[in-house]
Amino acid sequence: MSVADFLAVPRRMLVGGQWVEARSGERIDSLDPATGKVLTSIPAGDGADIDRAVAAARAALDDPRWRDLTPLDRGRLLDRLADLVEEHADELALLESRDNGKPVATARAVDVGTTMKLFRYFAGWPSKFEGATIPVSPRGGLRVLNYTVHEPVGVVGAIVPWNFPMSMASWKLAPALAMGNTVVLKPAELTSLSTLRLAELIGEAGFPDGVVNVVTGLGATAGAALAAHTDVDKIAFTGSTAIGREIARAATGNMKNVSLELGGKSPHVVLPDADLAAVVDAAADAIFFNQGQVCTAGSRLYVHADVYDTVLDGLAERARSIRVGPGSDPATQMGPLVSARQFAAVGAYLDAGRAQGATVVAGGGPVTGLDAEYADGWFLQPTIFADADHSMRIVREEIFGPVLAVMRWTDTDELVRLANDTPYGLAAGIWTRDLATAHRLAARIKAGTVWINCYNYTDPASPFGGYKQSGWGREMGRAVLDAYTETKSVWVNVS
Ligand code: ADP
Repeated sequence: MSVADFLAVPRRMLVGGQWVEARSGERIDSLDPATGKVLTSIPAGDGADIDRAVAAARAALDDPRWRDLTPLDRGRLLDRLADLVEEHADELALLESRDNGKPVATARAVDVGTTMKLFRYFAGWPSKFEGATIPVSPRGGLRVLNYTVHEPVGVVGAIVPWNFPMSMASWKLAPALAMGNTVVLKPAELTSLSTLRLAELIGEAGFPDGVVNVVTGLGATAGAALAAHTDVDKIAFTGSTAIGREIARAATGNMKNVSLELGGKSPHVVLPDADLAAVVDAAADAIFFNQGQVCTAGSRLYVHADVYDTVLDGLAERARSIRVGPGSDPATQMGPLVSARQFAAVGAYLDAGRAQGATVVAGGGPVTGLDAEYADGWFLQPTIFADADHSMRIVREEIFGPVLAVMRWTDTDELVRLANDTPYGLAAGIWTRDLATAHRLAARIKAGTVWINCYNYTDPASPFGGYKQSGWGREMGRAVLDAYTETKSVWVNVS
């Protein structure tokens, strides 16, 4: 389907295999971040729609067409879905770019690439996630065969953000489906379109009706209803720490299983012996990739005093050279922010940085001089603050925009203290040619992911998640399978 055809029709949402309007009949406009104009609209689902979707997911859990699939056949469905994502890669990338604002090449390489890899990787797990036989020592000499089996948790509620819409949905869908669960997915209200298209491909791949349901709508209504629903067995959330806290609270009603992937304020550390050209490239990309709307954004850069000026000059030059424009233009390197609200929120941090004494060395405001068509888009300059310190909001708070705070360090213990001086613990980066030092530093930084001489790589095979207020649990890799299964221990008297 062409993206123009997809956008020409007001979209519906997917409940029990039917494409439906919200019960209330209400709709939400989906806006183009490059122009501020309406792209199309989506249903404004609420609690009544969540009820319907949860009932459909519950019924699908016991549908023999899903429940009784062999592991290999479940894997085959996921593989077919990976094939379909690959076949429709260009279309999905363009749709993601139009809806979120990101450059279409980023959407193709990262969003669609990740989605495809996730389904491909998790297609292998249904036939490989084994239980165990356990050498127990029962009282009274009873002879026992004790074994474990992994069963689906049940109905999974997934709530995802707008920064990587389709791939964040797939981070949850792929392991949930691989382990035999059914899903009610609530995409972000700003960016539901690629997920709705993915849901069509899920049907085409042959997943039975009701196994995946997508309810679009606002967080405070549809999202909150899903988090609180007493017939949902697990909630998997990616988003802000503030909302994650609310979700965890809402989940206690029926003691849902909860996984949370939340915010970050990741330290990126440069030692004096690092390859400085590579540092400049990577540090710029770590903060400006996806307009800085990345939970792992390398937003606090600590540069050793010996190389501080060189790195700062290189970064400022790099930031000034980045082409900001509409995501659909192949020459664009950075697109608009996702919404007017995000644009205002990041703008307020630019004011706070200046007011608290940091120095702007690149950017610092809205982009001007774009074609008239883009005059109402949410374009912000890549911005670098020097002379930053830990008393400042731009250093302490997650900005979720293209704003870097650069700091100078000399003492390693003090560097480690500063790197860990944050409520978050999602990721960190270290640059040095001395790998023994790099490993020692990696061990001291409290973060779920540490990149050494690279930044912002993830893979379906490698666990991802946060320490401290960056979340609960790990996604991807072997580690996530426990989050989407219950383990049953079976004791058989064989005396
Ligand atoms: P942002 O504020 O940047 O949109 P959020 O963390 O609020 O980031 O949003 C992530 C996801 O959480 C979105 O799908 C949003 O609709 C949803 N959401 C927001 N508020 C709530 C809530 N109170 N309960 C459940 N989901 C919510």
